Amino acid sequence: QAGARDAAPQQRGMSSTTQESLTQATFASFPLSAATQRAIAEVLGYTHCTAVQAESLGPLLGGADMVVKAKTGTGKTLAFLIPGIEQMMRKPPNRSIGMLVVSPTRELAAQIAEEAKQLSAFQQNFTVQVMFGGTNINKDVSALNRGPPNILVATPGRLLDHLQNAQQLGPMLKDLRMVVLDEADRLLDMGFRQEIEKILRFLPAKSGRQNVMFSATYPPNIQELAGIALNPQRQVVDTVG
Ligand code: ADP
Ligand code: MG
Repeated sequence: QAGARDAAPQQRGMSSTTQESLTQATFASFPLSAATQRAIAEVLGYTHCTAVQAESLGPLLGGADMVVKAKTGTGKTLAFLIPGIEQMMRKPPNRSIGMLVVSPTRELAAQIAEEAKQLSAFQQNFTVQVMFGGTNINKDVSALNRGPPNILVATPGRLLDHLQNAQQLGPMLKDLRMVVLDEADRLLDMGFRQEIEKILRFLPAKSGRQNVMFSATYPPNIQELAGIALNPQRQVVDTVG
């Protein structure tokens, strides 16, 4: 116990939750592209994985559908952004968005997009778009008109608004590599179940891509949503601590 914590370096500004969840596993020990390794080390400044990252990176890089449960503040964002970017590098989507991340709030969506930009800093021609309610939808459309972003992060309401009321987004989701429902328990607590089911019906069959859910808790309604959003041969990672 003490050994695992001694091995992880103290980092300035890191929350105690993040600090406590660091393990002896390093990002360098995972088979990631040079561009991703460099961004983790030089842009983000991280060396050691948190517990949820150490447990989920391997299976997610292997293409598994997964439900990942871990406490807030333990680094779940990187646990899906790293595999998502790597999957796109291995098999670039054909004139399509590669990764769709559904996030419950504007603030979280903006944070995820910011982390995705940092993580993809050394990828060639890589774009990240974020969209959420309370902004002019025409601005989203203008950005989409420049071509499908590699990663789209969106709140459920705005995403569904595009799919139901604008033509640009739908065709850009035809060759997705990965769909992420982030903070799934909050998505359901905020009443987005209907929206999510509708969004999923606009997407091509889930069997053609990797589907993941991240959540701080794993109650029955999350297990039920996993049955809808993920393929049957999914894995469940329940991070302790
Ligand atoms: P969660 O989604 O589990 O609530 P986040 O992904 O938002 O957590 O991460 C919490 C904080 O920890 C963020 O500031 C993030 O940049 C930082 N972080 C994530 N992974 C690591 C790591 N391996 N080393 C140091 N800090 C990290
Ligand atoms: Mg999170």
